[in-house]
Amino acid sequence: MQAMVGGGRLPLFDAHCHLQDPRIAHCMPHLLTAAVEAGVRWFAVNGTSEQDWDVVRKMGDTYPTVIPCFGLHPWYVANRSPSWFSTLQSKLEAVPTAAVGEVEVLKKQLQLAQTLQRPVAVHCVNAFGSLQDILQEMGTFPAGIIMHSYSGPAEMVRMLAKYGAYFSFSGFFTSMKVEKAKQVLLQVPLDRILLETDAPDAFPRLDPSNLYWVPEDHASSSKGSGDNSNAEDHAIEGLPNLNVQHNQAGAPIIHLVTIGNV
Ligand SMILES: [Zn+2]
Repeated sequence: MQAMVGGGRLPLFDAHCHLQDPRIAHCMPHLLTAAVEAGVRWFAVNGTSEQDWDVVRKMGDTYPTVIPCFGLHPWYVANRSPSWFSTLQSKLEAVPTAAVGEVEVLKKQLQLAQTLQRPVAVHCVNAFGSLQDILQEMGTFPAGIIMHSYSGPAEMVRMLAKYGAYFSFSGFFTSMKVEKAKQVLLQVPLDRILLETDAPDAFPRLDPSNLYWVPEDHASSSKGSGDNSNAEDHAIEGLPNLNVQHNQAGAPIIHLVTIGNV
């Protein structure tokens, strides 16, 4: 089922994916078309190494729905060339709409994102202490930090949000214990929730038509980060038991979405 708001389809944003992956090159245009038809309006396509940055850039040039992101993924740090950083910088400068990602928890790429005022997608697994130290030293990221496939502790959420973090949830979140997952969601401001497929490595295997609204869970409501204090609840047309909040700009805030067919 597709979420409907005010008689129209709720636009979805895949906040983190790797559609440039050679494993899906043969069917990528078809996947993109199918996802757009299912309601996904934008895709943040994250580069992983110097080898795929040009492919990502070309995708951004070809498809207006693709937001290119350039970054050195932690798995590929060992294979970087001596000139990787200047190459990364020039790719970002050449595409003003590009974001930084996917990056490890190290200062260099975070600093580049902060200097260029671009959003940065961070791959953080068991490095939250280091990330906290770096953020304390560097200060806020006004363009935003995307905590890719967030699975960290609930206690870190408010601290990370203070520095500009958004929390992107993938199918992997469904493997977290329910009570722990609820505690995490309770801490996340409503206007800082993102959804991602992490395609093609998504878990579980899903397609955008598997995203659906669930009835509001009052126990899982949070108050937002402070700038949506005027938000009002509105029933979604045709779905009287569901509620969607709007921010001050009138845009719907994704309140609670889950992934079906798990
Ligand atoms: Zn990724």
